[in-house]
Amino acid sequence: MRDGFVGIQVNPVGLYDEGIEHALDLMQDTAGVNTLIAYTHTYYGAHNRPRDALAQDHGVPVRDERGRKLPGLWIRHHEERFRGTVLRHRPDPEGTEYAGHDILEDLAEPARKRGMKVFARFLEPHQARTMRYVENWSQVLSIDVYGRLHPNTCFNNPEYQRFWMSSVEDMFKTYPIDGLQYGSERCGPLSRMLFWDDVPTCFCDHCMARARAAGINGERAREGFQKLYEYNLGLKNGTENPVDGAFPTFLRILLRYPEILAWEQMAHDSKEDLAKRLYGAVKIIRPDARFGIHVDHQQSTWDLFQRAEIDYGALARYCDFVKPIAYHDIAAPRIKNWYLARAQKTLLRDTSMGLLAEAFYDLMGYDKTREPELNEMDTCGFSEDYVYRLTRRIVDGVGGQVPVYPGIGFDVPYGDDHFGGDPEIVYRAVIQAFEAGASGIMLSREYAEMRVANMRAVGRALRDLG
Ligand SMILES: [Zn+2]
Repeated sequence: MRDGFVGIQVNPVGLYDEGIEHALDLMQDTAGVNTLIAYTHTYYGAHNRPRDALAQDHGVPVRDERGRKLPGLWIRHHEERFRGTVLRHRPDPEGTEYAGHDILEDLAEPARKRGMKVFARFLEPHQARTMRYVENWSQVLSIDVYGRLHPNTCFNNPEYQRFWMSSVEDMFKTYPIDGLQYGSERCGPLSRMLFWDDVPTCFCDHCMARARAAGINGERAREGFQKLYEYNLGLKNGTENPVDGAFPTFLRILLRYPEILAWEQMAHDSKEDLAKRLYGAVKIIRPDARFGIHVDHQQSTWDLFQRAEIDYGALARYCDFVKPIAYHDIAAPRIKNWYLARAQKTLLRDTSMGLLAEAFYDLMGYDKTREPELNEMDTCGFSEDYVYRLTRRIVDGVGGQVPVYPGIGFDVPYGDDHFGGDPEIVYRAVIQAFEAGASGIMLSREYAEMRVANMRAVGRALRDLG
């Protein structure tokens, strides 16, 4: 059921560089945008983009973001709401451009005048770079298979949970915002290890205690993950030559250590528990505000483990909308280079990239006759049929409990430039999203990157859809 939601993701730096009034007019005039999803914290997100990765046709000079000292925090927090945690959002250091600007305050009137809603956007800042922005961050880091401190945060650490609760409580008690788009661009330890070369985490005392309570042998999980990690590394650097084949040997480790899969599921559940608490917190403070969940690209589109782990019917019980990334263009090189090529170097090395790409399309339910062949994936994006299939699957998954707003992605940077961006496909992607049952759409990835022709293509599709 369509509800008229036309959101756009915006980074405050682009708005301030361009001028808020000018930017809002452009979004509204070209694409009929009625909801602003503004980053309040850019600890994790689009940063330091070169000039060529930004749209040049918004009618004002474009500024390169590299080398500029830009804020991480774009709103004001209040000490009294953080007494339950040792973590503190740090004010931006002296000399930071736009320091002291408050994006929610600055957007309130220009948005109200135009009948636009304002949502905050806060992505889970699990990376080490957040240390710059949050005091005492080292207290919420995770522990890896070797017992070492690891830069990722731990979802089961009560300090981390209180930090989130305080941040969200403070936001909703301070600002009359319409909602929050929360999201965590972090998959479980299995995928992080297999596709991102990350050491498996988290085996801290909190996680071990949670496992014990769930009847999972944490020590066995840790041992199994260590073996798998070393096996995967060995495949990658050529020191591992399993006589029984790369994939069967991977299965052998899983069979001997079924705790690995139990741990992987527990990591997923731990992550979802934070979203559940935040949803509840928002509803207690402001029952009318909307809490949306952003599902990142690997989770929405290509990662087999994430496909198995995310149950959209369950997720719909702790959000007011689901926003899966459905970026058709950039999907092609990301899947080829971030997923298939990595799997083909390790556990799936006994098959060819060509066969792998074909099997990927079939297994994930995409139409291989519509999508680029392997040798086209670095230059040619996915079709609108991908947007249709992805949206349809998630709409069916949530089963009508909440609306689905797929992120229609265009002009997403690839290296120092944009990838794809044919307005005709953007137009068709919007049409197909609604054909598949979307209730609204989210213009993505980020306003400053979007070229006018593509925003107009969105507007034209919305008009044609009535
Ligand atoms: Zn932990």
